Formats: sequence, C-alpha cells, structure tokens
Amino acid sequence: MRIDVLTIFPNSFNFLYEYGVIGKAIKNNLFELNIVDIRTFSTDKNKKVDDEVYGGQAGMLMTMQPVVDAINSVKTDDSLIIFLSPQGKVFNHDTAMNLGAKKHLILLCGHYEGIDSRVINNYVDMELSIGDYVLTGGEIPAMVVIDSVTRLMDNVLGNEESAKSDSHFNILLQHDHFTRPREYEGHKVPEVLFSGNHAKIKQWQLQNSIENTKRKRPDLYEKYINNIRKD
Ligand code: SAM
Repeated sequence: MRIDVLTIFPNSFNFLYEYGVIGKAIKNNLFELNIVDIRTFSTDKNKKVDDEVYGGQAGMLMTMQPVVDAINSVKTDDSLIIFLSPQGKVFNHDTAMNLGAKKHLILLCGHYEGIDSRVINNYVDMELSIGDYVLTGGEIPAMVVIDSVTRLMDNVLGNEESAKSDSHFNILLQHDHFTRPREYEGHKVPEVLFSGNHAKIKQWQLQNSIENTKRKRPDLYEKYINNIRKD
C-alpha cells in the first residue's frame, strides 16, 4: 500500500518515520509513506496557500489551486482521496480495516477554516473525522488514520495475534491484563491466570472482556448481543 499525505506542515510527519512500530514498517517497506508539501504547488509568488473567506466570515481558507495541483500530482486510478474533516464519517476499526485493503490512500489535511468547499465537493472521495470535536489541523487526524490502518497490516506488529485480540477487533473491548508482582498493596491478580489451564484462562478472558464492554461501552455491548442473537 502507498499513502500520500497532502499537508502545509510536512515536517510534522517526521516522527512517524522514526516512531516504533510504524517507523520500522516503513523502513521494512511494508507500506510506503510519502509526504507532499501543498505549498510547493502554489503558483503565488509568495507561495501563499490561503485567502479570506467569501461572505465576510472571519478566518482564512486554503485555496483551490495548490490543493488541486497537489492532488493531481499523486492521484492514480487506484487512489482513494480522503479529506480529514470534523464533518466526515467518524473513523473506527471497521473503516481502518476497509482502508487497509486499498492500494493507494491520499490523505488531505486542512488548516485554518478548512479548504475551499469546491475541492471537497469535486475532488475528494470521502471525508473522515476522528471524533466530534474540532482540531486546528488535519495532520494529527491523518497520523491517527495512518497508525491505526497500518498496524492492522500483515507483519507490521511483531505478533499478528496481538491486533486480533485487541479491543474493537471483534466488537468487544479487551480483557484485563496483569504483570508482576502477583500482589501489590493487597490487590491480587486473579488466581485463574496461574492455573496453567488454558481453556479456563480463555474462558475467564472472554467473560472479563464481555464485562468490560458492558461496563465501559454499553453501546458496543448491545451490538455484541445483537450479533450473537443473529448467529
Ligand atoms: N471550519 C471547519 C468546520 O467547522 O467544519 C473546521 C476547520 S478545522 C479548524 C481545520 C482543519 O482541521 C480541518 O479542515 C480538518 O482538516 C482538520 N480537523 C479538525 N477537526 C478534525 C476532526 N475531528 N477530524 C478530522 N480532521 C479534523
């Protein structure tokens, strides 16, 4: 898979190349990450990429020309062009799985008041939000999407199973985890985990996972129960 990120702050992505699992996956060519500086496409003599908003609204808006030219510089027949936006569909595990099956993602990051709506309405395939709140730019949302999509790809995590047993992979939240010491200030690790009985441990993990989901995310618990009823 190839991911192109279109941004006016290209340096903010530097740490992704260095950052643990994702940095290693890039170095090992498990996916390709290319950061495109929108500003270099500006035909303005001062490399301007923003202008005032029509209609007297306060704030600045990213202009069409550099953004459209940046899109066209990387777009192919296989591209899915995603605008990170608080107005988009809220990103979740299912979307991460779906995006992981694509050959080419183009992630477009907005800034200021956003981007001229004619870009979004005519050049973008989908809008994705990372939650119902507003951030100052699309760079952090793009990094969230890159991290969550690529960690699900083959060989990116050392142990493939660890993604499959994580929260959200099968609707449920994950079960509790414990490490040494066995007891701390009277707080004990559940005895079953020392039993050596793998079937019993698995049964405890599933039960604990269901309880966690019911308590912390009743909406997901409802979905889990409905899925069981359908089967
Ligand atoms: N004026 C816009 C609105 O109300 O819909 C918000 C613009 S926001 C200050 C600037 C940029 O940050 C957006 O164009 C988008 O790229 C990014 N952004 C902000 N919140 C986001 C979110 N929740 N999810 C994804 N991207 C977001």
